[in-house]
Amino acid sequence: MATILVTGGAGFLGSHLCDRLIERGDEVICLDNFFTGKKRNIEHLIGNPRFELIRHDIVHPIFLEVDQIYNLACPASPEAYQYNPIKTIKTSTVGMVNMLGLAKRCKARILQASTSEVYGDPEIHPQQEDYWGHVNPIGPRSCYDEGKRVAESLCMNYHISHNLEIRLIRIFNTYGPRMDPNDGRVISNFITQALRGEPMTVYGDGSQTRSFCFVHDLLEGMMRLMDQDETTGPVNIGNPTENTMLELTEKIIEVTGSSSPVSHVELPKDDPKQRQPDITLAKKYLNNWEPQVDLKKGLEQTVAYYKELLNL
Ligand code: NAD
Ligand code: UDP
Repeated sequence: MATILVTGGAGFLGSHLCDRLIERGDEVICLDNFFTGKKRNIEHLIGNPRFELIRHDIVHPIFLEVDQIYNLACPASPEAYQYNPIKTIKTSTVGMVNMLGLAKRCKARILQASTSEVYGDPEIHPQQEDYWGHVNPIGPRSCYDEGKRVAESLCMNYHISHNLEIRLIRIFNTYGPRMDPNDGRVISNFITQALRGEPMTVYGDGSQTRSFCFVHDLLEGMMRLMDQDETTGPVNIGNPTENTMLELTEKIIEVTGSSSPVSHVELPKDDPKQRQPDITLAKKYLNNWEPQVDLKKGLEQTVAYYKELLNL
């Protein structure tokens, strides 16, 4: 049994991670400032003797004794991370230094939740880990993209300079139950719009692509990466099946049975045109990891979650 710190533990991915670690028998310290996290995501764990919740912001140092750290704290949806861009950068830089300092003092292994956004609007397709990316350093997404790139650099330099055990996971678009219905990401927007019979807001012409990974597949890959000894990463974790946003509206109409129309609205600046992970390294290092849940099945579970949460 290990003591594991999950920062951002009340968020979408973090709360599922807390569940899995508790199920496995670990002691979990869930740390969150509740910027985008929700108490409802973790309330079922309160009272479990192996679960502890701390309201804290990683931009400030914290002293704990832990064996492993999963650093997931950072808003993930473009609307949320652009709400206070300077805070977003601080979370990925000052917050990262604080978590690396904690890992160094405790001799703990630390996994950093990086992102496909480090590739920016990619010029190569699919994206492999050795691609350096195409990021606008002064654009509206830069607070997130560049913050995450600095975080990777910090991790690598702590590894080289202090022999710290680091793991870098580059997460591609992930969805599933507990995604905040108001966070502005495409799957939460389309499903809630479809369930309410409102128009589905496709940004631009809808030809841009994303590759959507179901949350349980992602977490399986994340935990395998943390617990293997062969690579620090970065390793891409995502589902290689690529969809345009228009195809996504069709799938959501099929799953919800909604008759919502599509309405086209302006494409946000610097919106990446295509995104698809190359998962060769994940298969190689993570015991042949690959996604198991196809988009239709994953959407069905996500729709069921929103129906219950929103009484729709
Ligand atoms: P989320 O917004 O649901 O969760 C982030 C959590 O971090 C929230 O609970 C929030 O309150 C907390 N947080 C934010 N800033 C904090 C701070 N300064 N101190 C303490 N807590 C803070 O998002 P998510 O989808 O669960 O994403 C989790 C992590 O995975 C993020 O680091 C994100 O960048 C990364 N990621 C997610 C995706 C995805 O598709 N979900 C893709 C790529 C990367
Ligand atoms: N998008 C859309 N309608 C929405 C929300 C998003 O068409 O209501 C598009 C967005 O322009 C992007 C894709 O869906 O091309 C994925 O957006 P999201 O915010 O989920 O994640 P991103 O991959 O851009 O960080």
